[in-house]
Amino acid sequence: MAAREAGRKDVPTLVAVSKVQPWERIAPVLAAGQRVFGENRVQEAQARWAGVRDTHPDLELRLIGPLQSNKARAALELFDVIETVDRESLAAALAEAIARGAPRRRFYVQVNTGEEPQKAGVIPADADAFIERLRTHHGLMPEGLMCIPPADEAPGPHFALLAKIAARNGLDRLSMGMSSDFETAVRFGATSVRVGSALFGTR
Ligand SMILES: *Cc1c(COP(=O)(O)O)cnc(C)c1O
Repeated sequence: MAAREAGRKDVPTLVAVSKVQPWERIAPVLAAGQRVFGENRVQEAQARWAGVRDTHPDLELRLIGPLQSNKARAALELFDVIETVDRESLAAALAEAIARGAPRRRFYVQVNTGEEPQKAGVIPADADAFIERLRTHHGLMPEGLMCIPPADEAPGPHFALLAKIAARNGLDRLSMGMSSDFETAVRFGATSVRVGSALFGTR
């Protein structure tokens, strides 16, 4: 209880972002016991990880990059967690693939906290309605929210905004923080951090 009052819950999950990295850099991290990995492309992740599942059944793969609706089924087949649900057409494609037998997975809604036109994610003003629609119309129960703050802004206010949107929607998981800002993200309540270059070296 004391830890909770101090604002800390569980130790955040480290999502090791292995995109683009050569296998020689990934293998030692896997051997050291890391089991949660993040990838941003379906096909690249398939090529890299499909065979690893046989020897590492406790592997957890997370999709952290934008997902095209026509790859919804492939993504559900491969990833345990899809962190980038951000639009109606994708939600519909995921729900339909599940209805046709694809595995039901864990989901996050990506929020474009900086409202950057080039960035994926639902804008903050639309987040509540989108989450509600996922639950009631698509039968998709997100477990949390994910964001990537603008590169040229202090990340703290973006993390705080994400935490606020999550709280008012009854979500307690926050995927936020990368190599450059994961310590800040943890202070703002991140339950998972996505760290690539700080772990594997520059891409
Ligand atoms: C690449 C990527 C990361 C990891 O970035 P680093 O700065 O290398 O830690 C985290 N999240 C997303 C969504 C990414 O695409």
